[in-house]
Amino acid sequence: MQETEIVNCHVHTFTTAHTPRCFPSVLVVVVRAFPGLITLLRWGAEALGRERSADYLRRIELFHRTGKRRSQRAVFREVLHHYPRTTRFVVLPLDMSEAGHGPVARDIVAQHDELASLAADPDYGAQVIPFAGVDPRRAGVMDELRRCVDDLGFRGVKIYPRMGFRPDHPVLMDEVYPFCLDRNLPVMSHCSRGGVWRKGWLPSQQDAVTAPQAHEPVLRAFPDLRLCLAHFGGDRDWRAHLRDGVDPDDPDARERNWSAKIARLLKDRTYSNLYTDISYTIFRFADHMPLLRLHLAHPHIRERVLFGSDFYMTRQEELSEKAVSIRLRDALGEDLFHQIAHVNPRRWLGEA
Ligand SMILES: [Zn+2]
Repeated sequence: MQETEIVNCHVHTFTTAHTPRCFPSVLVVVVRAFPGLITLLRWGAEALGRERSADYLRRIELFHRTGKRRSQRAVFREVLHHYPRTTRFVVLPLDMSEAGHGPVARDIVAQHDELASLAADPDYGAQVIPFAGVDPRRAGVMDELRRCVDDLGFRGVKIYPRMGFRPDHPVLMDEVYPFCLDRNLPVMSHCSRGGVWRKGWLPSQQDAVTAPQAHEPVLRAFPDLRLCLAHFGGDRDWRAHLRDGVDPDDPDARERNWSAKIARLLKDRTYSNLYTDISYTIFRFADHMPLLRLHLAHPHIRERVLFGSDFYMTRQEELSEKAVSIRLRDALGEDLFHQIAHVNPRRWLGEA
């Protein structure tokens, strides 16, 4: 039997020190100042027999407990509980300093340094595939990217347009993507309607830079760039697609739903190096699994889907990492799971 050495292509290890003080709202400041508050609320909910509320609050507690860890190593140790010891993880830093939510205690340079020492850790380093977080608006972004790749051995680039820039921002088009091609590095871009956003931007503005369509100029200009649109368009679009279907008289309907749009681009092989991952989206397991299986029945889509989870964002969800990855493996069967968790990630990373 084939040996499946899982690559989870999408996890995070950043901590509270890397997030803006007031993100996403001042409520966070209160929760951080009084960490017992949520526990207290949960006890209240339990005492009142409000099972669902108690359960929700328990997950929020878990999420904050993970984010509050003092080091990326401590966060990383948590995800290791859920996977076989041979598993490797693409760790994606996030530069949240330019999103307008206030200053961060430890900047992206410090975040990269800490991730580099995690990747050199004698116990866990071999399981870490470090990426660099790139915000094209940041001064000296290319110098930092070169340092990450040339000095620290980082293996790819993460961008997050929702924080306030287009994926075809001139710095990305003129410098970052050509550099990635030159060094054979893959790119991961956040592609769902949720997540961190540019402060002051309307949802429509956030979506305009995050949509699959916003990435098409990049895919056209750099057909050899291995670009992954994370989250397969996001769980909101998966839900909408399953709930509402598609209006047959509206030619743009399939364009507007990001999961349908990505599936279409992959089926048609419009761009030969476009990938997508199923992180977070697959945590709505019962609802989304049948559609995922249907997608993966198509030979072109099967080649381009990456296994990823979005740890530790998923601590807010009902199912654990282990529960989801085991259910996924069971539902897909060994061959298909091997394809998305072993074969495709290696090709995307440039290892195959
Ligand atoms: Zn993520």
